[in-house]
Amino acid sequence: MLDKVVIANRGEIALRVLRACRELGIATVAVHSEADRDLKHVRLTDESVCIGPASSTESYLNIPAIISAAEVCDATGIHPGYGFLSENADFAERVESSGFRFIGPRPETIRLMGDKITAIEAMKEAGVPTVPGSDGPLDDDKERTLHLAHEIGYPVIIKAAGGGGGRGMRVVHSETALLNAISLTKSEAAAAFGNDTVYMEKFLENPRHIEFQVLADEHGNAIHLAERDCSMQRRHQKVVEEAPAPGISPDLRTKIGERCAEACRRIGYRGAGTFEFLYENGEFYFIEMNTRVQVEHPVTEMITGVDIVKEQLLIAAGQPLTYHQEDIVVRGHAVECRINAEDPESFMPNPGDITRLHVPGGPGVRVDTHIYSGYRVPPYYDSMIGKLITHGENRDVAIARMRGALSEMVIEGIKTNIPLQTDIMADCNFAAGGINIHYLEKKLGL
Ligand code: ADP
Repeated sequence: MLDKVVIANRGEIALRVLRACRELGIATVAVHSEADRDLKHVRLTDESVCIGPASSTESYLNIPAIISAAEVCDATGIHPGYGFLSENADFAERVESSGFRFIGPRPETIRLMGDKITAIEAMKEAGVPTVPGSDGPLDDDKERTLHLAHEIGYPVIIKAAGGGGGRGMRVVHSETALLNAISLTKSEAAAAFGNDTVYMEKFLENPRHIEFQVLADEHGNAIHLAERDCSMQRRHQKVVEEAPAPGISPDLRTKIGERCAEACRRIGYRGAGTFEFLYENGEFYFIEMNTRVQVEHPVTEMITGVDIVKEQLLIAAGQPLTYHQEDIVVRGHAVECRINAEDPESFMPNPGDITRLHVPGGPGVRVDTHIYSGYRVPPYYDSMIGKLITHGENRDVAIARMRGALSEMVIEGIKTNIPLQTDIMADCNFAAGGINIHYLEKKLGL
């Protein structure tokens, strides 16, 4: 069993992990930067260790400091949250070779999924549908590359195998631009990711972003927890998420979800994970797998009743999954609005002191946030300060509850994106369901 866990993260996810640990009777160690002494979970945790200055490279990304904190506190496991070191295979390896449990997949799985080409290959073998493309790296044979693009049909997208965070991609609309685009993407990828391998995919013009949540244990069991729709995005950043995805039939959910679970069994996946797909004209196309808990995991928790973070901890402790696939039933609908400390018009981060805070409540309302009245939002990290999640017996009820919750929420002292979220919840196309990934930017006139 895990009896003491280091929470190697900050903000709302650190608090979320702390709460799950408490429920399971696991002690916690908060490792934090000098700028984060006042974080809520740092105040609530059993032990805390300051691991470095505000800059995340010297604190939340500082592998030796995190490992030594675990040693000093005699911890048994390390939970990486999302972002920071959560998908860093070298970190996972260091954690495990130092004798701690990494609360996530095995390091080799993280590495396999971190390379988009090997990830796509693994998915194909499991029957997960992928985007038509080069089926591997592009080589120096120009004729073959031109022929391939012609076969796939323009527009195509050139992607770096080692890319991430929306970087290392280039869309090509015509043959004349192709070879130049490939060499540009290759040199950028070499500089940014230390790996110039690129591949080609068909560029889907108006897809939705739909992702499947999975859980897998070390005993060969894997299940899916249905899907989320995260198409409401700005600059590849998700703004609103919901579950289930509007218009996806139970049969299609089962078909794709089962394929994802099967892929987990084949690669010996361990822990929680997400299969991200683009969805266009009724077809799913796998783009990548995230080997960690996601920001938007609560919407899945609300419709399935499964505590994903608790399951992560139990899986890491070597236990079999609490649920079988037939136990997973989708009940109602859930929506999540990310709340960011930012100017709602310019989107510039707006850190500062929270002088007054009122959080909403009532049936079907969940607030995941680390902020409190008197808390100072530091300028050094991501601007997300919390998440509002609502659940209802159907999508209309969940959205109506979100409108109510947004109108109740009071955050004074800093600017937030609550006005933007209020606009989105009043948008008739969002209300209809099924907007694509370009919708928000078009609505904002970007
Ligand atoms: P990253 O790891 O950088 O997030 P992804 O492969 O997840 O890269 O792609 C990020 C985003 O780029 C997707 O959410 C989508 O908006 C766009 N994208 C990626 N591949 C395609 C494609 N084949 N067609 C259209 N858009 C794509």
